[in-house]
Amino acid sequence: MRTTAAVIRETGKPFELTELELDEPRTGEVRLKFVASGMCHSDEHLRTGDSVARLPMVGGHEGAGIVEAVGEGVTRVEVGDHVVCSFIPACGVCRYCSTGRQNLCDQGAQMATGMLADGSFRFHDDAGEDLGGFCMLGTFSQRAVVSQASCVRIDEDIPFEVAALVGCGVPTGWGASVYAAKVAAGDTVVVFGAGGVGSNAVQGAHFAGAKNLVVVDPVAFKREKALEFGATHVFPDAGSAHEAVVDMTRGQLADHAIITVGVLSPEVVTQATNIVGKGAQVTVTSVGKSTDVQIQLAANGGVVGYQRNIQGHIFGMCNPLTDIPKLLGLYRSGHLKLDELITRRYSLDEINQGYQDLEDGKLIRGVVLHDS
Ligand SMILES: [Zn+2]
Ligand SMILES: [Zn+2]
Repeated sequence: MRTTAAVIRETGKPFELTELELDEPRTGEVRLKFVASGMCHSDEHLRTGDSVARLPMVGGHEGAGIVEAVGEGVTRVEVGDHVVCSFIPACGVCRYCSTGRQNLCDQGAQMATGMLADGSFRFHDDAGEDLGGFCMLGTFSQRAVVSQASCVRIDEDIPFEVAALVGCGVPTGWGASVYAAKVAAGDTVVVFGAGGVGSNAVQGAHFAGAKNLVVVDPVAFKREKALEFGATHVFPDAGSAHEAVVDMTRGQLADHAIITVGVLSPEVVTQATNIVGKGAQVTVTSVGKSTDVQIQLAANGGVVGYQRNIQGHIFGMCNPLTDIPKLLGLYRSGHLKLDELITRRYSLDEINQGYQDLEDGKLIRGVVLHDS
């Protein structure tokens, strides 16, 4: 079958729209027709070369669509089901899945090659080259063949464009506050970066009961949106936020700093560490350049003396099989804003413009809507 996809062929080059050949699903796999795909910063990390992966790669790892065909042995979904793709598969039986840590599933090992679990590719170009799908998905293609372990069935009344966002950005941000940081009622929380992930860290911290919910972001539009998502104070830079946090906590500093900036730098790690108090935690969600070291802190006073905890996490420590339906339930009950996250919609051939808009600070989330 033929499918049109936005492909990263070489780092530093724009996405290339190409027609590809797509194989039929094999055992345990399904063919999806994507309806909507969120434009996460991680694809941009791949395109710029900040993150290292096997190329060429079909971009996109935040998608929702309809099951069109199933291979042998597929039990989790049926043809016609609406599904969200989790950017991390959840096999259900590995050491991590079976101990409640599906975000660490062993099948995630192929995310950067885009091969499926049997070590082969489903996308091929006309020159005979194999292409992976980012995170074993490739949601910037009209259609893809993916493992059933990547699919979470959802109710049919959930709009695809909001469903797509619960495949990566929403659980990553919301879970950063709720699961990785374990924000508690009355806490003072500082979120660095209020984009597609940070907005959800704000929503998670707000729902968990943060008293002071401080956001640092240089972009005025994102600060305004953060107030809509539950922030109590917003600042353009870490210096003014620090002063205000000293004041509002009577010098005790924040209980949590959550880093959700576009590109992690040593500077933001230092600012976040300095803004939290004794026994407090810095939760690191962002990534930077694969070849750089971003976290280097003084033990004396900084980490040991103040007993500060630095916690990394992936996917907000969420379990996709239970947390994706949970988050959509909170959306339905009005406890989680998802429509408000979408700033602009693009067709697939506008994808480079969309990423330029993200780079220019114009988006909380852009969404690609596929033609059928
Ligand atoms: Zn993502
Ligand atoms: Zn697993």
